[in-house]
Amino acid sequence: MMILPGATLGMLGGGQLGRMFTVAARNMGYEVVVLDPDPHSPAGKLATEHLCAAYDDAAALTRLEQTCAAITTEFENIPAAILETLAANLPVRPGARAVTITQDRSHEKTFLRDNGFPTAPFAIIRADADLTPALTTIPAPAILKVSRFGYDGKGQYSVAGEPDLKNGWAALGGNECVLEQRVPLDAEISVVLARSANGETVTFPVGENSHVNGILDVSIVPARVDAKLCQQAVDMAIGIADALEYVGVMAVEFFVSGGKLLVNEIAPRPHNSGHYTLDATATSQFEQQVRAVCGLPLGDTRLLSPVVMVNMLGDLWHGGRPPKWEKLLSHPNVKLHLYGKHEARPGRKMGHFNVLADKVESALDLARSIQQQLSTPD
Ligand code: ATP
Ligand code: MG
Repeated sequence: MMILPGATLGMLGGGQLGRMFTVAARNMGYEVVVLDPDPHSPAGKLATEHLCAAYDDAAALTRLEQTCAAITTEFENIPAAILETLAANLPVRPGARAVTITQDRSHEKTFLRDNGFPTAPFAIIRADADLTPALTTIPAPAILKVSRFGYDGKGQYSVAGEPDLKNGWAALGGNECVLEQRVPLDAEISVVLARSANGETVTFPVGENSHVNGILDVSIVPARVDAKLCQQAVDMAIGIADALEYVGVMAVEFFVSGGKLLVNEIAPRPHNSGHYTLDATATSQFEQQVRAVCGLPLGDTRLLSPVVMVNMLGDLWHGGRPPKWEKLLSHPNVKLHLYGKHEARPGRKMGHFNVLADKVESALDLARSIQQQLSTPD
């Protein structure tokens, strides 16, 4: 059954991903209710209604059930029990199972291994006694990653030997971790896709991603990576979505290592590496989320132009002052997206811009030059 414009959609989480979903949904004539405890929620500001309450607040959940035709999420750390409670009364897309697996790194890696998807070699650490055996299975250099609530490289420790492992484990509070082999990277790529309730899947063009300090810096599309590998990544991403019986928009990040693909991680939501779709594909990943959640036919994902997406972190706000936007806005094919965040902090994602050009190399050159100009205070 299609949920048509005029209906109200519930969004769990109110950050930038929820905000861009809200814009897409409201453009299409839907109302959006956002649940997020942050009074300055970027999505809450643009929503029809902002429920400023904890994710398990009984009154807020009742309000969602009473007003919404379907529920979606932008934040993988929503407790699965809440998704299950809501699902008793209305469609929740993605569902509790897919979110439960992907919100927990060890659960996710185990799911990938059990389903035959390649990952970097890993071992799970649950207790002190697991530390030494883990380092035997996964010799240094390795990376210790906390299972829950990590993002943008937070909750990760580089491990060159046993002392690092012990210190990292203590610093992460003795919480469950994955010890992952550090693999040589030829490149990183990602696939954003949408899967509808009837199992139809549509993928967006593969993005080539480069990270700085564990945070995505730029996404380059089309990816300058072997076409066969890109096709393999697309096939694997679809395989993962099928195995999760996923409904909604999902992203899969891959390492290209020694000419082969390894799955890095799965995001049960639109993804930062898919922000280029706001300006460069026929349908954006956020419109696609609306379509998948509402049971509408999925949109065309054709690439209209080569594009480079550049993230802007709070580091560009010197002394709290925003960068000189004129330097960016003077270019007719550069598109600015700001998230309306209350406060700039180093490492915090404040916005991004998309550079369109006839050739991906020209887009990258202009992207780098603008990035340089924005980072120089004057
Ligand atoms: P996000 O959720 O924001 O993507 P995250 O905190 O979950 O980030 P990861 O994706 O695990 O972090 O790692 C961030 C980056 O660190 C990767 O994109 C990659 O550049 C590098 N990295 C992570 N794991 C490995 C590894 N095993 N070998 C080599 N590089 C790695
Ligand atoms: Mg990642």
